[in-house]
Amino acid sequence: MPSFKTLDDLNDITGKRVLVRVDLNVPVSDGKVTDSTRIERVAPTILELSGKGAKVILLAHFGRPKGGPDPQFSLDIIQSAVEAVLDHRVHFATDCIGAPAAEAIASMENGGILLLENTRFHKGEEKNDPEFVKALAANGDLFVNDAFSAAHRAHASTEGLAHILPAYAGRTMQAELEALEKGLGNPTRPVVAIVGGAKVSTKIDLLKNLVKQVDALVIGGGMANTFLAAQGIDVGKSLCEHDLADTAREIMAEAGKAGCAIVLPTDGVVAREFKAGAVNETVSVKSIPADAMMLDVGPESIASVNAWIGKANTLVWNGPLGAFEIEPFDKATVSAAKHAAEETKAGRLVSVAGGGDTVSALNHAGVADDFTYVSTAGGAFLEWMEGKPLPGVDVLSRAK
Ligand code: AMP
Repeated sequence: MPSFKTLDDLNDITGKRVLVRVDLNVPVSDGKVTDSTRIERVAPTILELSGKGAKVILLAHFGRPKGGPDPQFSLDIIQSAVEAVLDHRVHFATDCIGAPAAEAIASMENGGILLLENTRFHKGEEKNDPEFVKALAANGDLFVNDAFSAAHRAHASTEGLAHILPAYAGRTMQAELEALEKGLGNPTRPVVAIVGGAKVSTKIDLLKNLVKQVDALVIGGGMANTFLAAQGIDVGKSLCEHDLADTAREIMAEAGKAGCAIVLPTDGVVAREFKAGAVNETVSVKSIPADAMMLDVGPESIASVNAWIGKANTLVWNGPLGAFEIEPFDKATVSAAKHAAEETKAGRLVSVAGGGDTVSALNHAGVADDFTYVSTAGGAFLEWMEGKPLPGVDVLSRAK
């Protein structure tokens, strides 16, 4: 694994100003935070630094303001939720650079926690503008990045700062990188990947990378239909990207060359309506009725997926096997998730999952806590699965 410094490498930090990049991009409704998961994830790093007497200065973006201040994206909306999770007073500065930040920092006590206003209120953030990076760096002695979910962006607060301040991975970043290393970096073989979800078109790079890395690739969800259709199977009214037949065949050919087994459904649960409780039947994929759509993989396919999970020492998972939000089309996803959780608990499997709907699918199955690691990072997790370099991580491994 590319090595990087962690909080364990920080010695006496009493009174040091530590700029901590966190992900506070939480869902808000009517001015209230509706899900504090992201705040909970970064709490250990903040409290550890505060407990060691550092002045903890939080940097974060929130929403997509258009490069200028916009009250609906002010981090002051989040301040009290951060206080509640940390059970610690959190001060707020109305700008992340300049006099408001400098004055607030000057009045901080050792162990104090200060939240700076949305970094995206400045155009320099997303442009990684050196002048803006300098203005941010003026407020800190050290930089800690705990926002893996923003690490696929080379922004001032996610990448630029690590070039000019001594840079460290926070505890969440560290846990994420260690889990990803176990998943694809240096995994115990055999490695099986499950990729499901709606469309091939959003996951072409991911599939192309995985076939080179894993021993078996299980394809489920709507995207399996595209692969079946590419083999001449009539998928009826199923969600299918017929224009991607060549891409699907290319991916299968690359898998063949790399010695990666492609596991496609052999049966499916079909319905005429996309709604909970829709009348449904189980059919072979070779006899999908012309007016029906496959909304989940069938029992024979579930047995095959579970057998592959049984053979695996490492499992990487992105995307549900079926339309898991509407019963009974959640069966395959729930069954495979439970099986992977059992194998993990028994110490026979390292299971790493994440991206998009995967977290809610595993929560729906009630097993998210039983996986080795479930990443809530979305885009960054997917880019990692695509084998792309993550600028925010790369710069940490190069940091002196
Ligand atoms: P993604 O964000 O690409 O991971 O896709 C997740 C979505 O794919 C979920 O909303 C599922 O309902 C949907 N999905 C999974 N399987 C199917 C299917 N066979 N037909 C239609 N939608 C599906």
